[in-house]
Amino acid sequence: MPQFEDVFPPDSKILVTGAGGFIGGHLIANLFERGFTNLRAIDIKPIGAWYQRFEGVDNLSLDLQEIQHCRAATQDVTVVFNLAADMGGMGFIEANKAACMLSSLINTHMLLASKENGVQRYFFSSSACVYNLEMQTTADLTPLKEADAYPAMPEDGYGWEKLFAERMCRHFTEDFGLETRIARFHNVYGPLGTWDGGREKAPAAICRKVATAAIQGKPDIEIWGDGEQSRSFMYIDDCLRGVTELMASDYRDPLNIGSAELVTINELVTMVEEIAGVKLDRRYALDAPKGVRGRNSDNTLIQKTLGWEPSIPLREGLEATYRWIHQEIREGKSDSIYNA
Ligand code: NAD
Repeated sequence: MPQFEDVFPPDSKILVTGAGGFIGGHLIANLFERGFTNLRAIDIKPIGAWYQRFEGVDNLSLDLQEIQHCRAATQDVTVVFNLAADMGGMGFIEANKAACMLSSLINTHMLLASKENGVQRYFFSSSACVYNLEMQTTADLTPLKEADAYPAMPEDGYGWEKLFAERMCRHFTEDFGLETRIARFHNVYGPLGTWDGGREKAPAAICRKVATAAIQGKPDIEIWGDGEQSRSFMYIDDCLRGVTELMASDYRDPLNIGSAELVTINELVTMVEEIAGVKLDRRYALDAPKGVRGRNSDNTLIQKTLGWEPSIPLREGLEATYRWIHQEIREGKSDSIYNA
């Protein structure tokens, strides 16, 4: 399979949006390491609040809901990775449906500006939240394959916005010739991402709770729901490989990029406890936001398309994630410095 650098020369001008966030920050780091030097990184957050930033990259703080900012952002750009979105874990997306849907302004304006400025290839980060909710009602569900997004009944707010943006990518390709690539991410986790403040997802939240209990000598932790809801979690390095290989490929339809290692939240907690060397009492908050009962990624299509699937074991990725969050807490840092 061709690699990203086989398709795009090292001096290609590349834009990453949402670069002050989790995946965008790691993607800039990855492209930089591979020798791409003509990088533009954009986020709405002030640059001082980004998880990662690099000298020599054109770092800009801009609101990409505004079309004039999207036009400036895509000026002279060959490749766009559009990762900007107003998003978070279940606690955030269930309580902020309008804010999630307003990312439609980012996605519409980024597509229009990319078309106007002659961008050669455009990446859109969609989500497993586009999948039909009725197929996710049991913890031991059949993994979700790409066709299961239709008939459409996605996650309210966030999922509908992602599904709409996917369709828009498809029609910009068909009607205007803009080459688009669409990944449906299933829960991505790792260091240098949100771990507190309301937008964090389950792996980071559990690492924070266990690390806090370990540091403060607390006997118990709170778990949202009964802990028997199931998910798969993909480590950031697998995510970056999937994104760059998808961009190097000719595949134009939405593609799952996710792990197929299914665990319950209780199993996730046990893994983090083992890493931390503690055993905690579990308090179950049954009224807390829980999302769907079960969700897993069917990786038949990514295997066929890219000859590969995300495979970093959860236990291994959690070690790195836990260590980073533990360190942040030990150093008295708060996630609010990254989400100013
Ligand atoms: P993140 O919240 O860490 O990063 C998104 C970034 O977008 C943030 O830094 C935010 O400030 C920025 N942003 C928001 N509104 C903006 C605006 N108007 N203009 C410019 N920047 C703006 O999230 P992430 O985990 O890095 O996710 C990246 C992308 O992947 C998002 O589109 C998300 O929906 C998608 N995704 C992520 C996951 C996951 O598990 N992390 C799963 C499915 C899909």
